[in-house]
Amino acid sequence: QLIFLDGQLVKKEDAKISVYDHGLLYGDGIFEGIRVYNGNVFRLKEHLIRLYESAKSILLTIPYTIEEITEIVLKTIRANELQSAYIRLVVTRGVGDLGIDPFACKNASVIVIAEPLNLFPPELYETGIKIVSASSRRNRSDVISPKTKSLNYLNNVLVKIEANLAGVPEALMMNTDGYVAEGSADNIFIVKGNELITPPGYIGALEGITRNAVLEVACKKGYDAKEGVFTRHDVYVADEVFLTGTAAEVIAVIEVDGRQIGTGIPGTITNKILAGFREIVETDGTK
Ligand code: PLP
Repeated sequence: QLIFLDGQLVKKEDAKISVYDHGLLYGDGIFEGIRVYNGNVFRLKEHLIRLYESAKSILLTIPYTIEEITEIVLKTIRANELQSAYIRLVVTRGVGDLGIDPFACKNASVIVIAEPLNLFPPELYETGIKIVSASSRRNRSDVISPKTKSLNYLNNVLVKIEANLAGVPEALMMNTDGYVAEGSADNIFIVKGNELITPPGYIGALEGITRNAVLEVACKKGYDAKEGVFTRHDVYVADEVFLTGTAAEVIAVIEVDGRQIGTGIPGTITNKILAGFREIVETDGTK
């Protein structure tokens, strides 16, 4: 396996960064998770726009243009001869000293890892998943914008720990006002009648690329799909619930905190959205 690290492709064993990298010392950096379907990098441009916006927000200079990063991502996929893959693109503040001052870091570090996929087991798409709500809260959006996909994932890690302890694959994160924000690494949609609702960014949700694609798919299929603020109660009484994310794609939720959702199997609308999503990933990409 070859990994792009600071200008070159190196073997996995040789892909090492300094213990003085502020990505490690302070979680000072940003990242993207991107999928490749049949050689098509799904919505690479959108991922890179989000990456550059995250960088701008934390005053981090990425040492490449968007065109150069596009080439680097494609080159890394080709070097590993992957048709279907998960890409992790990380930009850290780079090497500094032990002080927190990011201006001590002269060069950001750019890492691209391309791996064969590690998805939820296929049967979970047939059965749907059970989830719980976590006690950890999403950062307030006036502190660090949820639009910044930063390396500070401790909230999300704590949420994932709560999911693990409950024996389920994912858990829901509320914001500090108690509104539903998202999962540890996925966005959430609830379906009520003909309406699909997902929390807006300011509630504390990342503006997921999959979430945005699902909003488009749903509108094209004639559903009323929109952003809206809701609580756990609304999740419990929804007709259908599903999660979206680059790794998870679209996955039905059939139980939340012991409350069965709808009839306890993946809903008709969720299945239609998953099918619609799987159609667009085949074509909507960069080769
Ligand atoms: N929310 C969080 C916190 C995430 O880390 C992710 C995954 O990247 C998502 C939502 C889903 O976003 P996307 O569809 O862009 O993968």
